[in-house]
Amino acid sequence: MAATIIDGRKIAERIKLAVKRDIQTIQTKGKRSLKLVALQIGSDASSEIYLKAQAKLAKELGIEYCVKTLAQKISQREVEREIVELNKDDAVTGIIIQTPTPKHIDAQRLFAMVAPDKDAEGLHPANIGKLVYEDWVVAPCTASACMTLIDSTGISPYGKEVVIVGHSEIVGRPLSLMLLSKMATTTVCHIATYEKGLLKKHVQRAEMLIVSVGKSHLIKGGWIQRGAVVIDVGVNRRGNTVTGDVDFRQAIKRASYITPVPGGVGPVTAIMLMKNLAALHKYRKGIDK
Ligand code: NAP
Repeated sequence: MAATIIDGRKIAERIKLAVKRDIQTIQTKGKRSLKLVALQIGSDASSEIYLKAQAKLAKELGIEYCVKTLAQKISQREVEREIVELNKDDAVTGIIIQTPTPKHIDAQRLFAMVAPDKDAEGLHPANIGKLVYEDWVVAPCTASACMTLIDSTGISPYGKEVVIVGHSEIVGRPLSLMLLSKMATTTVCHIATYEKGLLKKHVQRAEMLIVSVGKSHLIKGGWIQRGAVVIDVGVNRRGNTVTGDVDFRQAIKRASYITPVPGGVGPVTAIMLMKNLAALHKYRKGIDK
């Protein structure tokens, strides 16, 4: 039987309604809008698309949204100064550092400059560290989106063989900790796994598989264990077509649940940013989750 396709757009809409209600309550009580500031250094075509989407979503949710664009040639120190000012500004609830940044800018240092309680992307070392202690307020948006999509299947990761392909700071690494906190038996694969010719072997063991690599159809459908839950994070553009990292057409024949690309992880990731913003506000004000 073909897998059930996990409808990321529908799930995102449901979360959006809940976040909207949450934000309305916060704003009615606080008599002030939540404010999200996106810091953009120079300009980049792919960033523009994300910024537009963020602005639209913020508007729908009643969040004040502002893009601060800094000159392409700005120095690291000057960007850091801007972040210090935003950290100090009481009107600012959350900050995003838009990536990619120009080559001379150390983005990781910028993530660490954002105050942890204004870190809307959940990328500050203190927030990443909280994943280790299972005590997080915010987590990286895509990793949270993967957890939400897994949760939507009703299948618990408890005791499951979970395989993550890709160990990026924004997906694979935080996700491995989040799944560990659900008592999954988690394996993380990366380029060395591939180079040793072991990727197929690990994927075949997976009862839950999450792939975040950025290589179209790296994971063959025949590798998927029958009944596995498959979450495909990859976004690979070629002309007008977008494909995932998993060969969807073949994988759907073996999986129990699978996310499509597009329409799976992406829409849920976008709303997670706004969910993080509300969580940060409540954390700062000492309001229970
Ligand atoms: P990334 O920083 O682009 O890094 C790719 C990861 O894949 C690295 O950990 C790399 O390992 C690993 N890798 C590369 N080739 C491999 C192979 N042949 N076998 C096994 N592992 C391999 O990762 P990312 O930021 O997580 O992005 C990955 C993809 O997800 C991209 O297509 C991106 O556009 C997409 N994405 C989508 C969303 C969304 O919301 N839908 C969000 C974030 C990312 P090494 O570092 O060891 O080389």
